[in-house]
Amino acid sequence: MSGKVTLVGSGPGSIGLLAPRGREAIEAAEVVLYDQLPGEEILATLPKGAELVDCGKHGGDHTLEQDEIEALMIARAKEGKNVVRLKGGDSFLFGRGGEEMESLRAAGIEVAVVPGITSAIAVPEAVGIPVTHRRFASQVTVITGHEDPTKGESALDWRLLGQSRGTIVVLMGVKNLPQIAVALVENGRSPKTPVAIIERGMRPDQRVTVGTLDDIAGIARAQSVRPPAVIVIGDVVSLYDGTTLFRP
Ligand code: SAH
Repeated sequence: MSGKVTLVGSGPGSIGLLAPRGREAIEAAEVVLYDQLPGEEILATLPKGAELVDCGKHGGDHTLEQDEIEALMIARAKEGKNVVRLKGGDSFLFGRGGEEMESLRAAGIEVAVVPGITSAIAVPEAVGIPVTHRRFASQVTVITGHEDPTKGESALDWRLLGQSRGTIVVLMGVKNLPQIAVALVENGRSPKTPVAIIERGMRPDQRVTVGTLDDIAGIARAQSVRPPAVIVIGDVVSLYDGTTLFRP
C-alpha cells in the first residue's frame, strides 16, 4: 500500500503560528523533508524517530535539487511511508509546492496539504503594515524578486506594476532590490513611494529598514540587509511607526 505526502506550510517561523493540523501531521510523519526557511524554532521540534531530510534551499544554495526532492518523496511514499514536506510560509506561494503536487499526482501518490501563514502578508502585518487599507491601497501584488528586471525577458509585467497604485510585496528580492526600485520608477511609480524591508520577520532578531524607492537600495546596502526579507512597497508603509505588533 502506498503512503501519502502532506505538504505543510510552517508559517513565517514562529512556532505558535504553525497550525495545529500541521503540527499533527509532523508528529505522525515517518519521513520529513524540510527546507531551512521554517527556522530553528520549528525545525528543533521535528520528531527524532523520523527520517529527517534537509533539502537546504537557503538563498539558492540547494542541498538537494528539486527533482531529487520529488524523487525521494515519491520513493518513500511508495514504500508505504507517511511523508511530510515542510516549507516556510505557505507551500503554494513561491514554494514550488504546486510543482511537487503535480509530480506526486503524476506518480499516483496521495497528496494532502496544510496551508501555512504566508510571510507575504504576516511579516508586514507584524510590524503594523497592512498590505491593503481603504485609504492607501485596494489591491496587493505579491511578486518574486528572484529575477533581475534589466536582464532579458521578464515573467513580470513591470509596466503594469509601475502604473498600479496598489501595494507590491516582493519575496526573494534583496539581491535585485536596486534594479526593482529603478524598474518601478521608470514605469511610473513616484520615487518617493515608501518602502519597508523586514528581515527575519516575526523572529527574535527581526529588523526593519525603511526608505523610499529612490534611496532604499543605498540604505539597504549600507545596513547590509540580507535574506530572508519581505519588501513592501506602497503608501501603506507610511503606517509603520517603529513598533512591532507581534512578539515571538
Ligand atoms: N512560501 C513562502 C515564501 C517562499 S520564498 C511564504 O509563503 O512565505 C522565500 C522568501 O520568503 C524569502 O526570500 C523571503 O522573501 C520570504 N520570507 C519567508 N519567511 C520570512 C520571514 N520570516 N521573514 C522575512 N522574509 C521571509
